[in-house]
Amino acid sequence: MSKQVTIVGAGLVGSLLSIFLAKKGYKINIYERRADMRKTAMSAGRSINLALSDRGWRALEAVGIASEVKKIAIPMYGRYIHNKDGSTAQQPYGKDNQAIYSVSRADINMKLMDLAEKQANVTFYFDKKCTTINRKNLEASFEDTLTNKITTVTSDLLFGADGAFAASRLNLQLNSDRFEYNQHYIDCGYKELIIPPGKNAEFLMEKNALHIWPRGSFMMIALPNPDGNFTCTLFMPFTGPKSFEKLNTKEEINAFFNEEFADAVPLMPTLVEDFLVNPIASLVTVKCAPWIFDNKIALIGDAAHAIVPFYGQGMNCGFEDCVVLDELIEKHDNNWEMIMQQYQALRKPDGDAIADLAIANFIEMRDKTADQKFLLQKKIEAKFSAKYPNKWIPLYSMVTYSPHIRYSNALSEGKKQQAIMDIIMALPDIENNWESPEIEKQILSHL
Ligand SMILES: Cc1cc2nc3c(=O)[nH]c(=O)nc-3n(C[C@H](O)[C@H](O)[C@H](O)COP(=O)(O)OP(=O)(O)OC[C@H]3O[C@@H](n4cnc5c(N)ncnc54)[C@H](O)[C@@H]3O)c2cc1C
Repeated sequence: MSKQVTIVGAGLVGSLLSIFLAKKGYKINIYERRADMRKTAMSAGRSINLALSDRGWRALEAVGIASEVKKIAIPMYGRYIHNKDGSTAQQPYGKDNQAIYSVSRADINMKLMDLAEKQANVTFYFDKKCTTINRKNLEASFEDTLTNKITTVTSDLLFGADGAFAASRLNLQLNSDRFEYNQHYIDCGYKELIIPPGKNAEFLMEKNALHIWPRGSFMMIALPNPDGNFTCTLFMPFTGPKSFEKLNTKEEINAFFNEEFADAVPLMPTLVEDFLVNPIASLVTVKCAPWIFDNKIALIGDAAHAIVPFYGQGMNCGFEDCVVLDELIEKHDNNWEMIMQQYQALRKPDGDAIADLAIANFIEMRDKTADQKFLLQKKIEAKFSAKYPNKWIPLYSMVTYSPHIRYSNALSEGKKQQAIMDIIMALPDIENNWESPEIEKQILSHL
C-alpha cells in the first residue's frame, strides 16, 4: 500500500512538493487555509511578482513542468537602474544572456495546483486551516474556515509547508523540548504599486529587466507582468525621516514621489489611490531547528526558513528543498529515517546561509547599486571571472545561476572573495589602473 502523506499549505512549495511525492507513488492530501485561489479574486495590493532563477527551474525541470511555467514567465537579463537625476544604467546579471524570470506569485501558484491535480494521487482541500498537530499519533486537525467543523487526519508522513508564520511549526515548537526559534524583522516594510500598460498594452519601460530606483535607505523595484504592467514594490523604513509613517496625505505622497522617483510618476496614474489603499507588509527572517520530528514530520519552504526577498531566493530555496528531498528518496529507497536525517543535515546550513545572504543583499541593493566604487568592484570581478571562470564565480552567479553550488558554499566563497576585493579596492589609484595586468596578478596571488 502506498504511504499517505499530509501536506499543510498549498502555497508554492506545498503544491510543488505534492507533485514530487506523487511521482514517487505516495498518496498526498494537501490542506490549504485559504479558498481555492483559482476560483476567487485576489485582494488588491497583494500581487507580488517573484524572480524565478536556476535553482527553481531545476526543480520544475525535475518533475517535467518547466515548459508549462515558462509560458507565464518573463526573462529579465539585468538590473535597470533609475538614478535620482533621471539618468539610467543597465547592469547585466551575468554572462551569455543569463536571466532571472519574473512570475506572478498567484499565477505560478495556480499553475502548480493545476499541474498537481493532474496527478491521480494528489487531493487538495481548501478552506482548511491547520489548528493542531499531534506528534505521537501523527494526527493533524484542520478547521473548516466556512463551517468551523474540525477534521482530524492521520498519515504516515507530514510536511509543514504553511509559510513564514506556519501553524505547523508553532504546534511542533509547543510540543518539542529544546526547539530553537529565532525571528527577526528588518526595519523596512514594503508596499505594492503599479505601472499599467500603455494604450496598446505595451510595456512603458524596458520589459526584460528588473527595474531598481536605489535611494540609500529605501528603494523601489519593478518587475514585468505578461499583460504589459509592472508590479512595483516600494521598500522603505517604517519610521524615520524618509519612511512610511511620513506619507499619509495625497500631497505628501505626490511630493515624495516627484522628488525621488520623478521618471516613474508619469507612468503611475493611480499612484496616490494605490498608495493609500494598499497595505504595508513587514519582512521577516525565521531560523529554527529542528526541521524534522520523529523522522516522520518535516518543515519545508518558508515554514523552515523564511528569508527577506532581496536575493530573490525564498521560493527558489523552497523548490530546491523539494529537489534535495526527491534525490534522498531515490538514494535511500524510501527509507524515511535516512531521508529525514539527511534532509535536515543538508538543508539546514543552506537555509541559514541564504537567510544571511539575503540580508546582505538587502544592504547591497539599497546602499550600493548607485555607488561608483561598488560598481567598479563588480566590473573588476566580472573581468577577472570572464578570464578565469574556474577560479572566480561572482557571488550573485553562485547563488542565482549555479544550482549545483550549495548556498552554504556560496556564502563562504563569497566571504573569501570579499576579503580579496577589500585589499584590491584599497590599492592606490584603483579607479584608473583596474584593467592593468598588475591588478589581475594581485587577485591571483590572493586566491
Ligand atoms: C515581497 C516579497 C518578494 C519576494 N520575492 C521573491 C523572489 O523574487 N524570488 C523568490 O524565490 N522568492 C521571493 N519571495 C519569497 C517567496 O514568496 C516565498 O519564499 C515563497 O512564497 C515560499 O513558499 P511556501 O510555499 O513555503 O510559503 P507560502 O507561499 O507562504 O505558502 C504557504 C501556504 O500555506 C497556507 N497556510 C498558512 N497557514 C496555514 C494553516 N494554518 N493551515 C493550512 N494552510 C496554511 C497559506 O495560505 C499559503 O497558501 C518574496 C517574498 C516577498 C514577501
